[in-house]
Amino acid sequence: MTGTVLVTGGSGYIAGFLIQQALAEGWQVRTTLRNPAREVRLRGLLGGTADSLRFFTADLTADAGWAEAMAGCSHVAHVASPFSTNAPDHEDDLIVPAREGVLRALRFAREAGVTRFVQTSSVAAIAYGHGKGVHRFTETDWTNLAGNDVYAYVKSKTIAERAARDWITAEGGAMEFVSINPAAVLGPVWSDDFSASIEVVRQLLGGLLPGCPDLGFGIVDVRDVADLHLRALTAPGIAGERFIASGPFMKLVDVARVLKTRLPDHARKVPMRRLPDWLVRFSARFNPMIRQITGELGNVRDVDAGHALKVLGWKTRPAEQSIVDCALSLIDRGIVRV
Ligand code: NAP
Repeated sequence: MTGTVLVTGGSGYIAGFLIQQALAEGWQVRTTLRNPAREVRLRGLLGGTADSLRFFTADLTADAGWAEAMAGCSHVAHVASPFSTNAPDHEDDLIVPAREGVLRALRFAREAGVTRFVQTSSVAAIAYGHGKGVHRFTETDWTNLAGNDVYAYVKSKTIAERAARDWITAEGGAMEFVSINPAAVLGPVWSDDFSASIEVVRQLLGGLLPGCPDLGFGIVDVRDVADLHLRALTAPGIAGERFIASGPFMKLVDVARVLKTRLPDHARKVPMRRLPDWLVRFSARFNPMIRQITGELGNVRDVDAGHALKVLGWKTRPAEQSIVDCALSLIDRGIVRV
């Protein structure tokens, strides 16, 4: 089954793969950009025709453009949300566009008669604020906003998904809502403007890290995340559900080992030694980006994607392949010099 889908934030990493896969499946695709000057270049990268892929200008923080973008759409994949490795000056710089953006998209979607709205949420809305240690999370878990490891991006994703679900209950009418909650998304990059999640591989490969902090995350391939969105757009009987998108949990040092063993000629700068926690905490005093993640040191936040595998027939490729393909694409595009 296909239809007309609005994928918000067509310049984004995940959205790019979703748009390409949706076009390949025969969907009519609409997408939003906040900067219309990017359309020409993106059209060349994403493919499609003037008819099958149409661009609209809309920002998460304003109403302009949303009604036009939604007109005639049967489905929405709301992917756009602020995501950066940099710590914002104020947490509201992320929280407000994330929350207002999804509420705005929901409102215009309902007014346009959209039948299914899929929000790209995150494991950030599931697996934070639960204290130090080893945890395994499922879709029934929610991030505890009072936890001391809850930084601005984590708050933005949790608040946005909560707000979306509250709105659907109160005002959604017949429109169905589903969330996809990905872990760290890796895989090949399709443009020079890539997601914050790619920074891990870029910095390891480029020798920008003196060692590996004791940090880890579930890894999932961007192509599989796009595929899961398409399944969630059409599968019957899943209204209201959440689907974790993740493969195995890996520490940074495990990612480094994959690069070293699978790409020995390209991984000369990849560090293999573990950085002691005290050194990471010391560096955090001078670096707000590092300060954000010191609460994660030593934690294992394993997330269980069994629900998506079982209910949606979803499959994931090996994490090693996502890491290798990510590295090779960064090298091919000249983004990293090895
Ligand atoms: P990305 O490449 O940075 O994409 C983010 C998109 O959001 C971009 O298209 C960006 O547009 C758009 N955006 C940000 N602020 C906006 C605003 N005020 N108005 C309109 N558009 C705005 O990152 P991504 O990895 O593809 O992330 C896509 C979604 O997946 C996000 O919701 C993110 O939270 C979620 N997610 C990502 C990961 C991951 O590891 N990558 C994991 C879990 C969840 P511009 O190009 O104009 O900035």
